[in-house]
Amino acid sequence: MQLTVDLRSDTVTKPTPGMLEAMWSAKVGDDVFGEDETVAELENKAAAIFGMEAGLFCPSGTMTNQIAIKCFTQPLDELIADQTAHVYRYEGGGIAFNSGVSTRLLNGYRGIITAEMIAPEINAENIHYPHTSLVVLENTVNKGGGSCYTLADIAPIAELCQTKDLKLHLDGARIFNALTHTGDKAVDYGKYFNGISVCLSKGLGAPVGSVLLADAATIKYARRIRKVLGGGWRQAGFLAAAGIYALDHHVERLKIDHAHAAILGEELSKLSWVSNVLPVETNIVLFDTVEPATSVLAKLAIHGIKAIDTDKHRIRFVTHLDFHPEQVEHVIKVLKSL
Ligand SMILES: *Cc1c(COP(=O)(O)O)cnc(C)c1O
Repeated sequence: MQLTVDLRSDTVTKPTPGMLEAMWSAKVGDDVFGEDETVAELENKAAAIFGMEAGLFCPSGTMTNQIAIKCFTQPLDELIADQTAHVYRYEGGGIAFNSGVSTRLLNGYRGIITAEMIAPEINAENIHYPHTSLVVLENTVNKGGGSCYTLADIAPIAELCQTKDLKLHLDGARIFNALTHTGDKAVDYGKYFNGISVCLSKGLGAPVGSVLLADAATIKYARRIRKVLGGGWRQAGFLAAAGIYALDHHVERLKIDHAHAAILGEELSKLSWVSNVLPVETNIVLFDTVEPATSVLAKLAIHGIKAIDTDKHRIRFVTHLDFHPEQVEHVIKVLKSL
């Protein structure tokens, strides 16, 4: 029987038996009435991990980011982000639609921007200019191939934001991958950011869900925004239980995903049909192919391997908890045979 391997994203995972067990046995209530104790437990737990006051459990990372942008801006404002930012590229134009805010894009290195790059892009007080009110960072950077900020990179940006009275939001869809790589402590993040968005359905293996973290007043307002977006949900504790389980059991093991990605990157760099492999820092491998990416993907598909192209000659592999050692071997064997 042929193995099938799905490396399109770390969102393709299914709940493990332990996670399903936690979901079945969750204590739930109507969360719109504030009566779901498992949702409250997840929100408090995630907030404590990152040194923040409060949390809000939402169905997606797009929703947590969009709510944060709404909380930290007024219509006619402008936010600053790297040109690869998920909030700008992959959230359907939500910055303009939901918040009435314009976006100033920077050209970072693999999506990583610095205080020096941000400073000159902050608009002066002038009737012609939109009011700059927010900076959004992404860690790890998805489009950067899983590149990471360290807290040492973030500190000067946070200081600049404080001096200039800007809010700082972190799109931390893969923040635990970044922490695994850098060795920084999650709890220290709360000192630097006004808002943090954390996905439970990426590398952590929960079926659904993200948490927005901020101070209590912001989260109170965020709850209102979530409601207006149709995100007030009822017995969401069944899903929150999966998130709690993920935080307890699936963070430590991310280093396995990183090791698998590193092995794939190393093997790819030896192949004649691969022209370039971007540095592998976490669980994302980006590589360039001599042939068009679509024809390589078609060959991989014959061997049961799914991946995606991110450019005409670029392919992305993302490792995750349903990518097992025997599948790693299978993929390497196929890559060598092409
Ligand atoms: C996946 C992702 C999100 C959120 O995606 P959803 O599919 O809406 O949960 C946000 N930011 C980054 C960097 C992501 O990779």
